[in-house]
Amino acid sequence: MTVRPVRPDVVVVGAGFSGMYMLHRLRREGFAVRTFEVASDVGGTWYWNRYPGARCDIESMDYSYSFDDDLQQEWEWSERYATQPEILRYADHVAKRFDLRRHIEFDTKVLSIVLDEDAGHWMVTTDRAGEVSAQFVVTAVGCLSTTKQPEVPGLDRFGGHTYHTGRWPHEGVDFSGQRVGVIGTGSSGIQSIPIIAQQAQHLTVFQRTPNFSMPARNAQLEREFVDQRKARYGKHRELARRSRVGVVNEVTEDLTLESSPDERERRYRRGWEKGTLFGLSSTFSDLLMDKAANDTVAEFVRDRIRDAIDDPDVADKLAPRSHAFGTKRPCLDTDYYATYNRDDVSLVDLHETPIVEITEHGIRTSDAEHELDAIVLATGFDAMTGPLIALGIRGRNGEPLADHWAAGPRTYLGLGVNGFPNLFTITGPGSPSVLSNMMVSIEQHVEWIADALAHLRDKDMSSMEVQPDAESAWANHVNEVADLTLLPTANSWYMGANVPGKPRVFMPYIGGVDLYREICDAVAAKGYEGFELS
Ligand code: FAD
Ligand code: NAP
Repeated sequence: MTVRPVRPDVVVVGAGFSGMYMLHRLRREGFAVRTFEVASDVGGTWYWNRYPGARCDIESMDYSYSFDDDLQQEWEWSERYATQPEILRYADHVAKRFDLRRHIEFDTKVLSIVLDEDAGHWMVTTDRAGEVSAQFVVTAVGCLSTTKQPEVPGLDRFGGHTYHTGRWPHEGVDFSGQRVGVIGTGSSGIQSIPIIAQQAQHLTVFQRTPNFSMPARNAQLEREFVDQRKARYGKHRELARRSRVGVVNEVTEDLTLESSPDERERRYRRGWEKGTLFGLSSTFSDLLMDKAANDTVAEFVRDRIRDAIDDPDVADKLAPRSHAFGTKRPCLDTDYYATYNRDDVSLVDLHETPIVEITEHGIRTSDAEHELDAIVLATGFDAMTGPLIALGIRGRNGEPLADHWAAGPRTYLGLGVNGFPNLFTITGPGSPSVLSNMMVSIEQHVEWIADALAHLRDKDMSSMEVQPDAESAWANHVNEVADLTLLPTANSWYMGANVPGKPRVFMPYIGGVDLYREICDAVAAKGYEGFELS
């Protein structure tokens, strides 16, 4: 039975990996918590993204909670990169193990979160549970949970079925005998295209921007490897927490152009063979800082694409040139490029022939109408700020968060916002979040927030608010660090560039999870410096 405290201390919004752990941690600290989740069950990303081929791109033994040693010892991942169903089973296991569902109200959407300054609490309005007031609100709504539709006219006119990868039907989709079109070649497109191609009668991929993708080299996990990892799991996790990206990875000070072409080739080959997201970008220290250095690794990947594809024209279209390697999130794939060697797969380059409209029968580009039975939208998300702005948050003087962020998100540490006291954002903009193994970033934020609330309670204080100077200084720092790299040069979702009209600001913090953790720990050690406690 769901437990619903009438006046909870904390409302948590979202029951993905962030919300689940936040609930557990707060309950353990003795807080009364209500958690609202619009989905019918736990899992967040892994509840919604059920498209064929969906799996993690951080190795499962790293992409999992580390906060409980019994949990990490007892859970058995079957593959190096687990599939979506397996990750969802894991979320279910965690929910049962810690008896979380009792405090989660599913099928309940938060419609607005409004500060009542006189009463000193937040009023949270939901579609099913009415209004709930709470002293604290923690948003655990994720960075990639608000789906983005393509900006093409006629989508509602299409006579066949349309599916967004981020809202995939639970019963699955059988594309056998169908002519299928996929729009989008980010990670979701790149994972689903090879599987859809195996099922469909014909698959047409509509590509606007080609992406850099590397082979995942996925495999069943071997007993010996698992046993060895589990024997020193705690140590391994600690190294991940103290790493730059939340996974234990090679670190080098070497500069790309100071190495000989042969040495570069040797290192790139080794990085490519690793089958990890960061294997290639970590071969030299300056690949994401120096365009000339980056050109060498980008050309290496383009060569691998040419190797994989029979038709040189198709290979040319798939080879990314408009952005530097690693400036959009690279992809890990299984047989992505080889899929284009199939007779029943064709590629439409939207730079040559843009989509004009979606018709009743399919997709019309500037030179042809492609008749289709189904359209898959792998068109991504209104990332990071999208789910937060959709919460209808209003802070001091009724200021909407959307207005506060009209020129782009401004936060202190990605954890809080000036004018929005006692509201905390797990993996908010201005924190490493999407640039890292998210599990590491989620756990760090949850623990920091739980400690902060316990600190307030212990000191008999009721309010914690970001000071304006701290917010400005952090926003400047986030921008300055980003500007040291090539990442702001790409039209990426990190920059908000995928959503028309969204301010172009580099949203995550690229200083590294290791440095970031030190900063957050130091802030807490200094009595929550940069926050006003009262
Ligand atoms: P989410 O999992 O997004 O959960 C947020 C929850 O909030 C959702 O369940 C949503 O329904 C709920 N919610 C939102 N708004 C409301 C509202 N108004 N009212 C009520 N509920 C609401 N990261 C990695 O590090 N490694 C990976 O391999 C990886 N793979 C990914 C694959 C895909 C397909 C996608 C889309 C993302 C991937 N990510 C990966 C990022 C992933 O989002 C995070 O790893 C992590 O799952 C986020 O957890 P979360 O709980 O913060 O957010
Ligand atoms: P994405 O990276 O934003 O890719 C969206 C794709 O759709 C892009 O190719 C984009 O082209 C295209 N697109 C968008 N609007 C379009 C339009 N109007 N016309 C034509 N094409 C259009 O989204 P995603 O693939 O869902 O991935 C988002 C993030 O989720 C990833 O970067 C990753 O962090 C995470 N993720 C991870 C995995 C994993 O491997 N574990 C899998 C899926 C997602 P442009 O590039 O030209 O805009």
